[in-house]
Amino acid sequence: MATLWRPKEGVEIHDLGGQRYSFVFYHVFDMQNVIEGDPWIFEQSLLLLHELKEQEDPSQVLLNKMDIWVQIYDLPRGMISEKIIQSIGNSVGVVVKTDPLNMQGLWKPYMRVRVTMDIGKPLKRRMKLKREGDTWSWINFKYERLSTFCFVCGLLGHSERDCDIVYANPEKVIDRAYGVWLRAPNKNAKNQNTGSKWLRNGPDGG
Ligand SMILES: [Zn+2]
Repeated sequence: MATLWRPKEGVEIHDLGGQRYSFVFYHVFDMQNVIEGDPWIFEQSLLLLHELKEQEDPSQVLLNKMDIWVQIYDLPRGMISEKIIQSIGNSVGVVVKTDPLNMQGLWKPYMRVRVTMDIGKPLKRRMKLKREGDTWSWINFKYERLSTFCFVCGLLGHSERDCDIVYANPEKVIDRAYGVWLRAPNKNAKNQNTGSKWLRNGPDGG
């Protein structure tokens, strides 16, 4: 991680056992850069971060959250406001911040919001919005720097090859409700679309 992060003032790493590590940064900027760069992948696993508070035991803290940038697509033009972006973000997780560029300059294909997400819950694909007196519209999400996730159950940390639902139904053709389209386009990232014979692309079921 140190070679990936390259903290200017260095970092001290301790192995706490049980796949836990503590990172001691010598400058607050170095720590902030790492937190703002979340999510991180280490040896093909998602690295879950937690900023330790005083008196917190690093071997006991719950590691079930991660910060991630969410892109919001298809938001009707009349609904683009900081308040609405915040409330959409809070339905995906807990808002950390919104992108100050959302409201600046020319029209943008999507709005960005950074949220703290509970990794024990499936990824949210889309949500329905309604303006007073208006029709319902669907808005869609994409996630930046998304690591391995399951196209069947939508959980992070495993692919469909290791999915309990797939294993529990060996004879059944299982629909994929999720897909590679949840990944925000990234020049450096490769698609992790792993095909398999029992699976077919299902409709986006909401
Ligand atoms: Zn799964």
